[in-house]
Amino acid sequence: MTRFDIIIAGAGPAGLSFARSLAGTGLKIALVEKLPEKVLADPPVDGRDIALTHFSARLLKELDVWPRFPDGSISNIREARVLDGTSSYFLRFDHRETDKETLGYLVSNHLIRKALYEALARFSNVKLIAGVEVVSVTTGAAGGSVRLSDGQALEASLIVAADSRFSTIRRNMGIAASMRDFGRVAVVCQMEHKRPHDDIAYECFHYEQTLAVLPLAGNTSSIVITLPAAASQAIMNMDEAAFNRDIQDRFAGRLGAMKLVGKRYSYPLVAVFANQFMATRFAVIGDAAVGMHPVTAHGFNLGLRGQNTLAGEIRSAHERQIDIGVSQVLERYQRKHRLAALPLYLATNAIVKLYTDESLPAKILRSALLRLGNFVRPARLAIIRQLTESHL
Ligand SMILES: Cc1cc2nc3c(=O)[nH]c(=O)nc-3n(C[C@H](O)[C@H](O)[C@H](O)COP(=O)(O)OP(=O)(O)OC[C@H]3O[C@@H](n4cnc5c(N)ncnc54)[C@H](O)[C@@H]3O)c2cc1C
Repeated sequence: MTRFDIIIAGAGPAGLSFARSLAGTGLKIALVEKLPEKVLADPPVDGRDIALTHFSARLLKELDVWPRFPDGSISNIREARVLDGTSSYFLRFDHRETDKETLGYLVSNHLIRKALYEALARFSNVKLIAGVEVVSVTTGAAGGSVRLSDGQALEASLIVAADSRFSTIRRNMGIAASMRDFGRVAVVCQMEHKRPHDDIAYECFHYEQTLAVLPLAGNTSSIVITLPAAASQAIMNMDEAAFNRDIQDRFAGRLGAMKLVGKRYSYPLVAVFANQFMATRFAVIGDAAVGMHPVTAHGFNLGLRGQNTLAGEIRSAHERQIDIGVSQVLERYQRKHRLAALPLYLATNAIVKLYTDESLPAKILRSALLRLGNFVRPARLAIIRQLTESHL
């Protein structure tokens, strides 16, 4: 049995950033990941380009992750436009209404994971145990233990699960979660196009389907299409020329001719909110706590914020020489993070419902909301502030 202060299960973006947040404390941390280390060191492209808020950018700078993104891999979003159906009218969010140069940024998920892995490398108090799975967790008043798929057993004062929205450890610990299966799939890819995007992000709500076109370097955009599961297969299987035409038509030719770059990837759309973010000497972070629908691009931003909250509580307890795994520490994390996450989770699900409901009242309401959004400046500014504030 090997003893640690904290065992983190899952070295995705949430687990890695949490380990990095605590790496300077001297706490003895084990980070267990089922993928092999060579995949963590050089993760494959997974089609996700992550929209990051200014607060996330600040945290990633503090964690020495931001400077590791390769030159030209951080794209700016200066304006965002929301369109309803085939109408050319749009709700606009513009960075010029703030004192910031951008509304937010876009960085590919594999580059975020790679930079997080590299930022951890110099800390000898974080032990990465890769290529093995956490198969069970038990906790009690004095501490917790985990069993790994290679037969090893580890002990710690605190166990943290960052093992995705479909977390088996959360279930293993008896924490229920409300899950919402949208019965839809997100198909993502990158495309080149003839005309420049001018750093504008588009979210188009079409009948039963949504299309996001997000500005990357040069004349390239990240494409996210959400559609019913049955229709997603057709779009995944389309030959390239037909796919190019399809997306160009969905986007009404705004960027001219479009061409697929690389592969298409698909993700089932399931939102998850854990009923508790903690149990005895146990906490959930990242998607294991809150897994969001990608339409509002909050998932990793929220995961980063949550791990920062928990790390802050742990650092403060450690400095005051309080046991880091006791309920008072975890309850403060739970209270703060639930307060931050629940409104965003509910609002995101409400937006998805409104924009995929094809009844006449829903159509009238969303068209009215777009117009109202443009005229009610405080509401629009509140959303912009949420994206651009560096300190929350
Ligand atoms: C199409 C799409 C677009 C998105 N766009 C955005 C966006 O624009 N902005 C944004 O903020 N977010 C976005 N997100 C959300 C973001 O990708 C997720 O919130 C983020 O990846 C979650 O990170 P995580 O570490 O919690 O979970 P994951 O990335 O799921 O990582 C979990 C890790 O745990 C490991 N693991 C699982 N079980 C075990 C076990 N038993 N033992 C050991 N290891 C285990 C897995 O191998 C994995 O490495 C998007 C998501 C999708 C699908």
